[in-house]
Amino acid sequence: MAAQRIDGKALAQQVLAECGAEVARMVTRGVVPGLAVVLVGDNPASRAYIRNKVRACADVGVRSIVHEFGADTSQAQVIEQVRRLNDDPAIHGILVQLPLPKTLDEAAILAEVVAHKDVDGFHEVNRGALFSGQPRFPPCTPAGMMRMLDSIGVSLTGKHAVVVGRSNTVGKPMALLLLARDATVTLCTSKTVDLASHTRRADVLVVAVGRPGLVNGDMVKPGAIVLDVGINRTAEGKLVGDVDFDSVAQVAAHVTPVPGGVGPMTVAMLVVNTIAAAQ
Ligand code: NAP
Repeated sequence: MAAQRIDGKALAQQVLAECGAEVARMVTRGVVPGLAVVLVGDNPASRAYIRNKVRACADVGVRSIVHEFGADTSQAQVIEQVRRLNDDPAIHGILVQLPLPKTLDEAAILAEVVAHKDVDGFHEVNRGALFSGQPRFPPCTPAGMMRMLDSIGVSLTGKHAVVVGRSNTVGKPMALLLLARDATVTLCTSKTVDLASHTRRADVLVVAVGRPGLVNGDMVKPGAIVLDVGINRTAEGKLVGDVDFDSVAQVAAHVTPVPGGVGPMTVAMLVVNTIAAAQ
């Protein structure tokens, strides 16, 4: 079987086109959605992600501002900036780009972002809403994957979904979003014994670990839907996911590529959440 590739880039463009139409309607009512990004330090990957986010905002008419700080910035200075943005009526969404330098207390800084501007969905209130099955700002990467599943018209009710990786930003929220759609969910971690025995039972398999080639075709149920979140750079500088695309594509019904899969959807969902915050 040759799996169909779920084209995240094309789907993200479609989502952004819908966002552009919505922003145009909002502008006629005098509202221009505004996103503020707080970047601390000089992580090249973070800079690349922010470039993509700023570009996507510009494409649809969302105003975005990046506030940059050196790696030696104090906790108090970052918190002061976040509080200023909380009080700024022209800013509807605030994104603190992770990871923050190790000298800063990430959880304490994220907790400063007011819940109604928390477009990344990391505030305790928004995590609580997600936990209760009524997400307000679902974290962007899992929200993007749910859109990908919807785009292929799959009903998740009663399906067995296996999520590999339990980070607060991807694995856990993805498990909760799948559960909210009545999937039966298994969450695997680095401590899981015999990972393949779980992944082989998945109708929907989400891999969010950060290890190239962790999942290959032998570990996938025929006809499964496989979503690859991993972003890894090989020694040769090539960008690859956690899934061995070629062998998995022989077995699965649908699979996402890296690059051009989950990544572009993450950016698109940030724009979606920013517009929702402005509304
Ligand atoms: P993370 O915080 O490092 O979490 C990794 C998770 O993988 C942990 O829960 C860990 O388990 C689990 N794990 C490690 N080795 C494992 C193994 N052998 N078997 C099963 N589980 C294992 O990572 P993250 O932030 O979720 O990111 C994961 C990957 O996705 C990274 O490559 C990241 O760059 C990428 N990512 C992509 C996007 C996108 O938009 N495409 C967005 C975010 C992240 P323990 O909890 O037991 O340690």
